[in-house]
Amino acid sequence: MAWTRHGHQIPGTNLDPAQPRVARCGGPSLCKECWADVQAWGVFNPKDKESEEKSPSFEEELRALINKHSLENMSGTPDFILAGFLQNVLTDWNHATRARDRWKGN
Ligand SMILES: [Zn+2]
Repeated sequence: MAWTRHGHQIPGTNLDPAQPRVARCGGPSLCKECWADVQAWGVFNPKDKESEEKSPSFEEELRALINKHSLENMSGTPDFILAGFLQNVLTDWNHATRARDRWKGN
């Protein structure tokens, strides 16, 4: 798996419990630096890029689902921003539950 310099998952790679700390930059859909890392990763890993093209990432599928149900209309927010936001909520949730488990000694 691969991460951007701000700790966001690069689409098409697997999630890992050892995910680095994630910056609140919005990830590849909003952050130029994360997007550049995704592009660079694709250039240096063309085989993995092929598999990315075959199966959309969670964020891409989420974006399509938001679009399908016109959920962007409620707030006037583009689907890619909503999908990135929801992806970040899940990532933050994972970090919070891991922090809680460490605090509990699990
Ligand atoms: Zn970033």
